[in-house]
Amino acid sequence: MEKVAADLTRILGPERLLWEQEHLATYGFDGTAALYAEAGCVALPKTTDEVTQIMRYAAQNKIPVVARGSGTGLSGGSVPVHGCIVLCLVQMDRVLELDQKNLTMHVESGVLTQKVAELADAAGLLYPPDPSSMKISTIGGNVAENSGGLRGLKYGVTRDYVMGLEVVLANGEAVFFGNKCVKDVAGYSMKDVFIGSEGTLGIITRMLLRLVPKPRTKKTLLATFSQMDAAAETVSAIIAAKIIPCTLEFLDRITIKCVEEYAHVGLPLDAEAILLMETDGHPGVVEEEAQQMAEIARNHGAMAVQLAQSAEEAVQFATARRVAFSALARVSPTTILEDATVPRSELANMVRFIQQTAAKYEVTVGTFGHMGDGNLHPTFLTNEKNEAEMERVEKAMGEIFDQAVRLGGTITGEHGVGLAKKPFLPRAIGDSSLGLMRQLKRTLDPDNILNPGKIFD
Ligand SMILES: Cc1cc2nc3c(=O)[nH]c(=O)nc-3n(C[C@H](O)[C@H](O)[C@H](O)COP(=O)(O)OP(=O)(O)OC[C@H]3O[C@@H](n4cnc5c(N)ncnc54)[C@H](O)[C@@H]3O)c2cc1C
Repeated sequence: MEKVAADLTRILGPERLLWEQEHLATYGFDGTAALYAEAGCVALPKTTDEVTQIMRYAAQNKIPVVARGSGTGLSGGSVPVHGCIVLCLVQMDRVLELDQKNLTMHVESGVLTQKVAELADAAGLLYPPDPSSMKISTIGGNVAENSGGLRGLKYGVTRDYVMGLEVVLANGEAVFFGNKCVKDVAGYSMKDVFIGSEGTLGIITRMLLRLVPKPRTKKTLLATFSQMDAAAETVSAIIAAKIIPCTLEFLDRITIKCVEEYAHVGLPLDAEAILLMETDGHPGVVEEEAQQMAEIARNHGAMAVQLAQSAEEAVQFATARRVAFSALARVSPTTILEDATVPRSELANMVRFIQQTAAKYEVTVGTFGHMGDGNLHPTFLTNEKNEAEMERVEKAMGEIFDQAVRLGGTITGEHGVGLAKKPFLPRAIGDSSLGLMRQLKRTLDPDNILNPGKIFD
């Protein structure tokens, strides 16, 4: 590694090439429990040209390269491959353009998601994808994972807001795919190949993002239920009433308790489930939809429905959902957050199955998630040092994924496959899809140097 470090130092200078033990330790993991590997070195490029030079060097010497943003990933995607170059893009953090005529923002990969959202907001615009990690995640990481967020039900996910991408390929060539045109069908949509590719097909260095006008107003409601089924049926009834709220999130009993102990937002501890519901848009429509949603919740047996009376109260309601992961993570030494996803019609089934499976294997699982888009987060509260319990967790997790697939769903709605979901991918997507993915990988990365061993072997 000494020679590699010396060669890369010539490209980046000594400040931006780290290979001392104490630095490497901090880049050995991401947000996923129980995964760690040591990189050979960490490169912190500031320009596409530097990324190009590093990739050319890696290709010539067949050294694996693992792209990294903030390392908040929840499937082990940016965990190093032993001895690799970690290519960390956080210093490529320039906002290149905010184009108010075309409603686009051109940014480098290392810009934080929150910064994109704030700049759009200041211009009277909205960048809708809002993963709960947005204060710390990079926009490059969001694109590489095709991240979703609380507003996904109405506004879609990261992919829906990417109009163009600059990618440095495995051989070091930099290519820009896409443009500012709303319509473009010239050939295959190559940018889409790289969105959600988890650093296995190319290094994303900058992107052109689509913005939308900021909704004029928003209303936030919190409904509490004494039965899980009633909450799930409320969600189905809201959708069936042709209302598409911008947020339709849920917390189960265990999560409610943890959130209340952590954030003291005044949640009722006797509730089996809570729904956070938000509608945004034109004031007249928002008023009507908020009333309709409250009525539907009451008609389906909600114990209480509260309408936020001020912007502060709305933030307080939303906090209950936004802090769910952190609140659960405090409870036990190891937190394993999954994102099994099912068609909305199967939500009640799936939540019940998760609870039964947790009881069967005697493990603690708090579930919360994006109920409006069927994306659930069963969260295992465990201890990785307890081998017997970890074995039961693995078994319960496998059964939950199998059930999600049986119900017409998927093993991951937004966190990606990485290392953590790799064993479950073949049964989720089948041999033909997997075969095509492998072919694509071989074509774009013939020497398998880009994040090898992630998604599939
Ligand atoms: C508290 C918490 C809440 C979360 N909430 C959500 C949520 O609501 N929705 C959601 O979808 N996710 C969520 N996540 C997961 C995570 O934040 C997202 O996956 C995020 O997009 C990762 O961004 P990052 O910058 O940390 O990327 P990293 O974790 O560093 O990398 C993620 C993957 O992308 C690849 N990658 C990173 N940058 C690039 C690049 N420039 N080019 C090519 N490949 C690259 C890496 O190799 C890796 O495979 C949450 C995580 C935490 C810890």
